[in-house]
Amino acid sequence: MPKERTLSIIKPDGVKNKHVGNILQRFEDAGLTIAAMKKTRLSRTEAETFYAVHRERPFFASLTGFMSSGPVVVSVLEGDGAIEKNRALMGATNPADADDGTIRKDLAESLEANTVHGSDAPETAAVEIRFFFSDKELISTI
Ligand code: GDP
Repeated sequence: MPKERTLSIIKPDGVKNKHVGNILQRFEDAGLTIAAMKKTRLSRTEAETFYAVHRERPFFASLTGFMSSGPVVVSVLEGDGAIEKNRALMGATNPADADDGTIRKDLAESLEANTVHGSDAPETAAVEIRFFFSDKELISTI
């Protein structure tokens, strides 16, 4: 598996419900390294930019409202196959469909408030990492 970077967001429900430590532990237990991390809050406009690919979807307004409703914890995860590894830890988008033991199955509130975001491909990971972090903030191991 190639060494990769991916962007993780612990969404407002995950932070509000105090699941940050639990989720970060899962990343480390899976062999991923946290190369950068911060707590921040997205403005509505920033959430709209981040999720621009979903602009035409009926849930866009609700999703961007939710994503800007409270603080998030954003991190860059590194390691072998980091993108797929993180997606596997997250589970299916709808927590009702997620496998047992995944973050979304164990911790999510709903389809929208599904606790975590993870990049889905190397190209989107690069764009999403750049959205939140400068080179100086990335302590890379790869
Ligand atoms: P992901 O890659 O698994 O996060 O899923 P998507 O890229 O398809 O969707 C982005 C985010 O939009 C999801 O993580 C959910 O928070 C939200 N979302 C997806 N589908 C729906 C939906 O049908 N309704 C609502 N309200 N939110 C949705």
